[in-house]
Amino acid sequence: METARPSVIVAIDGPSGTGKSSTSKAVAAALGLSYLDTGAQYRAITWWMLDNGIDVSDPEEIATAAAKPVIVSGTDPAAPTITVDGEDASGPIRTQEVTSKVSAVSAVPEVRTLITALQRSIAAAATGGIVVEGRDIGTTVLPDADLKIFLTASPEARAARRSGEVKGSDLSATREALIKRDAADSGRKTSPLAKAADAVEVDTTELTLQQVIECVVTLVEGKRVAA
Ligand code: C5P
Repeated sequence: METARPSVIVAIDGPSGTGKSSTSKAVAAALGLSYLDTGAQYRAITWWMLDNGIDVSDPEEIATAAAKPVIVSGTDPAAPTITVDGEDASGPIRTQEVTSKVSAVSAVPEVRTLITALQRSIAAAATGGIVVEGRDIGTTVLPDADLKIFLTASPEARAARRSGEVKGSDLSATREALIKRDAADSGRKTSPLAKAADAVEVDTTELTLQQVIECVVTLVEGKRVAA
């Protein structure tokens, strides 16, 4: 008889273009864990604000509206979903407009309080274990995670990966936009993008996606054996 494996909470943080989403989904699928893309939640609330005429340059207006949309994340790594007020938001949250405005919305403390509570409730409900990816998971959302990974890569490698994902995009413009978004995410007052003191840093610049996945899977297996 197979013994049940202990459930495990894995936090994967890092800036854009480091392979967080691809790595997190693949690790969760390989190990039979749930998966949560927290960036998609911040994108979803940003999309709702833009769609509802909220002035996203006004933090007070954002704060007042923050509790209105109902955001639901599906945590199957093979088919993650995100809805806002029951409507599929997976396409609209990836537009250039949302990408350029999401850092302003995610910097508002009221938004972070609501989304952080949502993330914690999803992690608590994932009794079989979960991989949660974002910017502040290891530092703020789940500081007691069993394993914390911080992915990095050179700005050139990150821009090249993002350009590859977005059809017809210009490499230097992508690089500038990434650097600007990371600076905003790292510089905000409330739970900025940061490496937790006890996180394992993995520089993915010279690694293939497969190598990064193998590295993280090995780290998770090591934690499970130790548990
Ligand atoms: O990961 P992704 O690029 O989709 O994240 C979009 C944005 O959501 C980030 O640039 C950041 O502003 C915000 N975010 C955040 N905290 C997280 C995850 C994402 O502030 N845990």
